[in-house]
Amino acid sequence: MSNPSLLILPGDGIGPEVMAEVRKIIDWFGAKRDLVFDVSEDLVGGAAYDAHGTPLHDDTMAKAQEVDAVLLGAVGGPKYDVLDFSVKPERGLLRLRKEMDLFANLRPAQCFDALADFSSLKTEVVSGLDIMIVRELTSGVYFGEPRGIFEEGNERVGINTQRYTESEIERVARASFELAMKRDKKLCSMEKANVMESGILWREVVTRVGADYPEVELSHMYADAGAMQLTRWPKQFDVIVTDNLFGDLLSDLAAMLTGSLGMLPSASLGAPMANGRPKAMYEPVHGSAPDIAGQGKANPIACILSFAMALRYSFDQGDEATRLEKAIEAVLADGYRTADLLGEEGRDPVSTSAMGDAIVAAL
Ligand code: ATP
Ligand code: MG
Repeated sequence: MSNPSLLILPGDGIGPEVMAEVRKIIDWFGAKRDLVFDVSEDLVGGAAYDAHGTPLHDDTMAKAQEVDAVLLGAVGGPKYDVLDFSVKPERGLLRLRKEMDLFANLRPAQCFDALADFSSLKTEVVSGLDIMIVRELTSGVYFGEPRGIFEEGNERVGINTQRYTESEIERVARASFELAMKRDKKLCSMEKANVMESGILWREVVTRVGADYPEVELSHMYADAGAMQLTRWPKQFDVIVTDNLFGDLLSDLAAMLTGSLGMLPSASLGAPMANGRPKAMYEPVHGSAPDIAGQGKANPIACILSFAMALRYSFDQGDEATRLEKAIEAVLADGYRTADLLGEEGRDPVSTSAMGDAIVAAL
């Protein structure tokens, strides 16, 4: 059998810096766990624009469709702000999501014990939190037609349309139930069935799919109540599934219960491939952070945790993913901190590469 394949797209800003640390981790798994990946690397975003005049070359797109998983760093930067919308770095990312049809965006909100006190960053975190938000990513109000700014009488009107088909709801619901089966078997679906037709259909379809998963405890919540409950008592949840708009807000809310942007991974999953596993792209939640790029200050953990998600969801290596997460926990417990994890504390931060080396040593 051939090795599992991984396409690495470091991108712009701190993307290449944090990806260099993931490379160390990948090398370790190859050398010490006999887990060898066919890794290829290519350009995306501003880096691809500089080389090819497009933020994603067709050859790169084709490669992304063939591999078992894509791991992306970050795209964009002030240098590209002047570009026409059609060639902006972000368009490279959007094209990947669209053409791979990555409809389920997984955003874990997990708090590491060692970071339970974030008071120096003026951030309150919820220790022991471990929840997963699944956001529908390819439909809903961000895409529905009609959309636009139109003339209506003597004024203009801005229109967006919330639109969901049954099959769009069904596939993201199914992905969420599958995830719940691998976790605590608890799924909460959030919409606004009290005031939105799409919400009524959402609730109906999720309930129907739930019949295939009798072991999963399914609940429904209006998204506004969900926001309140997420703030009041986040640990009541395990997996939450919601639409594109509500998911955008709720996943950011949940993320901040865990601390720093430099710690947050994500996965975007699509339909199953021939090997039974979903098409997938993994990326840190943070962007290219131009303010700290090139200075060795970036926290590589979000990107390394994104690779851990790839191990779990694309490579069937859940135990190895846990091993990697434990190594990160151990390094944090030993006091290693990049600058973003220190705030007003007087301690000296470690560099991006020192953090990567420490995680490899802990492995
Ligand atoms: P984008 O539009 O690409 O999402 P953004 O404007 O939201 O970008 P980010 O690039 O995500 O901004 O970063 C916001 C700030 O958070 C950065 O300026 C940086 O200081 C900090 N930051 C983000 N990621 C990291 C990281 N991995 N390590 C350390 N600091 C980070
Ligand atoms: Mg951002």
